[in-house]
Amino acid sequence: MADIGTIVAEITAEMRGATERGRVADYIPPLACVSRDRFGIAVVMADGTLHLGGNAEEPFSIQSVSKVFSLTLALGMVGDALWSRVGREPSGSAFNSIVQLETEHGIPRNPFINAGAIVVADVLLASGTPAEAIAGVLRFVRSLAGDETITIDARVAAAEQATGYRNMALANYMRAFGNLQHPVEQALGVYFHQCALAMSCRQLAMAGRYLAHDGRDPATGRCIVTPQRARRIAALMMLCGHYDNSGEFAFRVGLPGKSGVGGGILAVVPGTASIAVWSPGLTPKGNSQLGALALERLAAATGWSVFEACSGL
Ligand code: GLN
Repeated sequence: MADIGTIVAEITAEMRGATERGRVADYIPPLACVSRDRFGIAVVMADGTLHLGGNAEEPFSIQSVSKVFSLTLALGMVGDALWSRVGREPSGSAFNSIVQLETEHGIPRNPFINAGAIVVADVLLASGTPAEAIAGVLRFVRSLAGDETITIDARVAAAEQATGYRNMALANYMRAFGNLQHPVEQALGVYFHQCALAMSCRQLAMAGRYLAHDGRDPATGRCIVTPQRARRIAALMMLCGHYDNSGEFAFRVGLPGKSGVGGGILAVVPGTASIAVWSPGLTPKGNSQLGALALERLAAATGWSVFEACSGL
């Protein structure tokens, strides 16, 4: 195997020349303005070594990748009680679908579809006002990444607030079933702001390290979550992190991953690496076209996969 730095450089060169780049999300107006020619990748190894390629230092809207961090916080607050309000099964439906909510009595299939993440945001409101809950998410992500410069893009949050009719429908529908405990506007306010977190690939890969290392920050040994919880969050990423494209992502990449309509994907290689890729052009199912391709190339070149035979076992 070539060294990781060379592999990352080769992938970056291939993605720079790619012509099939997908379409940027235009239902959130500021995202429609991001250039499709962007591509970034960051790989952080267990010992902290970083391999960066392309626009790895440019902040982008992490959107649904934030659902991993809000889920982690909510589990820290209410533990397994969360699972009476949110399921743990792949939905097989689009990220913003409402169809299952009626027959399933307002209980979303999993915390990574929009409905599930809105319930998680409602849980976070137990920590205080919407502003305090949002500040808590930002504080958590900054501490995970070890980077106080991370911000929330207020323009993106406002645009979602102004155009998020589907999310409002989901929230109102769940409230009617009694599965939101706070006013719909408050749960959505927290949700829209967490989605508007702006992070670079480097910052995102750094923030994801605890999921690759049994719940610990490998740099400091600090425990973020228990090993069991880290594995369970990774299991949900594998099964639900790409919505109705999760099977395809597992088939092609073989790693737990979480995507967002900003074009970012966070993926983890247990015990080995945390990876973030970004390219704003999306497939019709709302996942980064080049981001997934880059991860497929990386997994193939390195042999990284959770299904890899492990000689130690
Ligand atoms: N904020 C986006 C939405 O609610 C997040 C969706 C996504 O990234 N898949 O529609």
